[in-house]
Amino acid sequence: MNQNPKVSIQRFAVGDISVAKIVDVVEPTSPRFLFVDKTRSDFDPHLDWLQPNFITDKKLMLLSIHSFVVQTRHHTILVDTCVGNHKEGLSFPQWNGRQGDYLTNLAAAGLAPEDIDFVFCTHMHLDHTGWNTRLDNGRWVPTFVKATYLFDRGEWEAWRDHPGSSEQSVLAQNINPIIEANQVHWVSGAWEIDDAIRLLPTPGHTPGHCSVELTSRGQRAIITGDMMIHPVQIAEPDWQQIGDFDKSMATATRKRCIDQVCDSDVLILGTHFNTPTAVRVVSEGAACRIRF
Ligand SMILES: [Zn+2]
Repeated sequence: MNQNPKVSIQRFAVGDISVAKIVDVVEPTSPRFLFVDKTRSDFDPHLDWLQPNFITDKKLMLLSIHSFVVQTRHHTILVDTCVGNHKEGLSFPQWNGRQGDYLTNLAAAGLAPEDIDFVFCTHMHLDHTGWNTRLDNGRWVPTFVKATYLFDRGEWEAWRDHPGSSEQSVLAQNINPIIEANQVHWVSGAWEIDDAIRLLPTPGHTPGHCSVELTSRGQRAIITGDMMIHPVQIAEPDWQQIGDFDKSMATATRKRCIDQVCDSDVLILGTHFNTPTAVRVVSEGAACRIRF
């Protein structure tokens, strides 16, 4: 067991809903791993607002892989389950055989795995499904033993029917053990977990990608998933991601969301946004930026 006694947990409030960020990985990443045709110098017009939180002094992107634990009056919901430990065959080989501190970080937020009522993965990529399972005597078993896992049927069918080798590893390690344990509730598109939490279809990054909308006491927040991965895409929504399944659909989805939230009070909880992670979108000239 890794010891990490000095974890400080970042928390957010949306009306009566509380949200805690549980970090698995934070890594500086070259733009060429994320964007189709961008290099470090493409960030130059934006360095004044992206540094130091989201871009390093060497102009690498700071990408965070974290979960959000959303607590409403009724439920405790874990959104996205990061990379996980001991996985193999991943398309990002630096994460094979990881031994990270995620469960220690969850404990630092005052939560045990059995406290989670629902698990929802915005999509089925390896960095959003890893802690669905943990290795127990050589078998992959559900980490959150009392949780109902909400799987989008269209998302699952897309990966089941067209798996590459790394997708097969993800299905075998992160998805199929949950189905075999009968802990899945299948959903399709917009679905209300309770009166405060709703799945928001945002397709493009993957076929069944969903963001999550939180509403309480007149306040609203959106957990992005990978509809946008880095804050630069709020100013540059046309920057396409290598990992987008349908790049033009992903761009249209991203633009529609930015248009809707720009200059509003909607809080954007960025699934890969480094600290401070929660931002608002504001207009500046013809484009948008963030404020936090
Ligand atoms: Zn991701």
